[in-house]
Amino acid sequence: MTIIGIDLGTTNSLVAIWQDEKAQLIPNALNKFLTPSVVGLNNDGEIIVGEIAKQRLETHSDITASNFKCFMGTHKILKLGKKKFRAEELSALVLKSLKADAEAFLNTEINTAIISVPAYFSDAQRKATKAAGQLAGLNVIRLINEPTAAAIAYGLHEKPENCTFLVFDIGGGTFDVSIMEMFDGVMQVNASSGDNRLGGEDFVELLIKEFIHHHDLKIEKLKSKELAKLHASAEQCKQQLSTQPHADMQFQAKHQLLTLQINRDQFNELSKPLLKRLRAPLERALNDADLNGDELDAVILAGGASRMPIIRSLASKMLGLLPTSHINPDQIVALGTAIQAGLIQNDDALKEIVLTDVSPYTLGIDVINENSYESDSQIFYPIIERNSSVPISRSDLFSSAHNNQPQINIGIFQGESRHVRNNIKLGELNINIPRSPAGKESIEVRFTYDINGLLEVETLVISTGKKKTIVIEGNPGVMTEKEINQRLEALAELKIHPRDKLENTTLLARGERLYENSLGEKREIIGELLQQFEAILKSQNIEDIEKMSSKLKDIFDDIENDSPLC
Ligand code: AMP
Repeated sequence: MTIIGIDLGTTNSLVAIWQDEKAQLIPNALNKFLTPSVVGLNNDGEIIVGEIAKQRLETHSDITASNFKCFMGTHKILKLGKKKFRAEELSALVLKSLKADAEAFLNTEINTAIISVPAYFSDAQRKATKAAGQLAGLNVIRLINEPTAAAIAYGLHEKPENCTFLVFDIGGGTFDVSIMEMFDGVMQVNASSGDNRLGGEDFVELLIKEFIHHHDLKIEKLKSKELAKLHASAEQCKQQLSTQPHADMQFQAKHQLLTLQINRDQFNELSKPLLKRLRAPLERALNDADLNGDELDAVILAGGASRMPIIRSLASKMLGLLPTSHINPDQIVALGTAIQAGLIQNDDALKEIVLTDVSPYTLGIDVINENSYESDSQIFYPIIERNSSVPISRSDLFSSAHNNQPQINIGIFQGESRHVRNNIKLGELNINIPRSPAGKESIEVRFTYDINGLLEVETLVISTGKKKTIVIEGNPGVMTEKEINQRLEALAELKIHPRDKLENTTLLARGERLYENSLGEKREIIGELLQQFEAILKSQNIEDIEKMSSKLKDIFDDIENDSPLC
């Protein structure tokens, strides 16, 4: 059985495999390792995924979707024209594309995968990731936490002697911190923390807000295509600020070109509230691991947003260590998923390695606090505390509160607050009990948190001995098996743009975007080139197509390097 490892990112996704005693990245149809997590429809109504869809984000924003990972495990509907999708389905289309890349590369059918998820992903988000795999025709045998994957890739690559290190993983939409210890081949996660609503995209939003404020624009009046263009300019500005002291944002309003120059100091100032949010999980992880920053041997960066100098300096200021990035931060998580695949397959080269992980948050139930001063008397009763090693199983006894009570109803929550209203509700349990005086009946509630970070709950009514494994109900974001099957049928009807045409159609999409963003002579030249290319594509002469496509790539590269907007 071949198992692929997938880093399903907010912005980009990668697929890798354990082969010839090492983790190897698999290239996509464009011969690149990064596949943008962008899905769209082309003009023939076919599904397009990756770079081609990314090129059309600005020009066809109404039929293209990105950043949908942050809606996994919610009922949010995303539209591509008239077609409606859940985030799981769009993620499934990305996974399908990666599966096809792996199948083409390995020349065999692939049905099994390991997918990485942010450590701080909730139960619903994890289940959604599994559902996305199922919708893509993949049996997801393991979900691995992204910072843990990054840590094993680092551990295997650098082979440090016994050491303690921190993984600082910030992608497009999520932020995770994990503290790992390595001793005699055992890689143990000591603490994990994070924020699953914080990532590089928030820095882009900051720049957009600043631009809108500076030019007194009304965001609600901007069309989706205009917003997409402003977003692209802010994204480019943010990335340029990673390597240069200042960068420009531009936006073509109705009658004039609006611009704004931002320098690093201004960007740092704007980013202060986000930096504050990044500090809290770092402090919590160190606290939980009972460590000071200066007790760490290394800091490893993962995720595209870790390229920002402010992130690097925050990490070094707080931890007193310069972060290492020996492994490309875009690739480190995918490499780790492939190593996990090797571990599951008991590969000889990995025999000495044992990996253990922890639950990143506390899981518990609501109980009545009769002495509460507040009107809300429901308080949180932790059953599995955060940073317990997984898999773990813990139970507790709970009694009836009223005379003749027919049921004990319990809410299941994830979070750290004493008040359940501040925590995330995962579901409800309604357990029938014999009617008796208050306090007479009791049930045992057992929480089992598996290696994938998924929760199972079992109850036992003590007086009757009745046991029940509970499928957690009332978690509104989770797809049911029936819904998954229905959506599987719907997805099977979608036409997918052929993989072998992707290289040329992506080039055309890039040309269309450059055409829209250019003016005058440059626009004319791009228009003529596109016309020529279309004619050559029609002729189907492979040699001519290759020649023209290589020429076009060079010209488009020159145009993009020349103009910040294109
Ligand atoms: P990932 O989810 O790991 O693919 O990370 C994607 C995030 O990294 C996005 O928010 C990107 O804008 C951000 N990113 C990628 N490259 C850079 C860069 N050079 N400078 C700043 N942010 C970057």
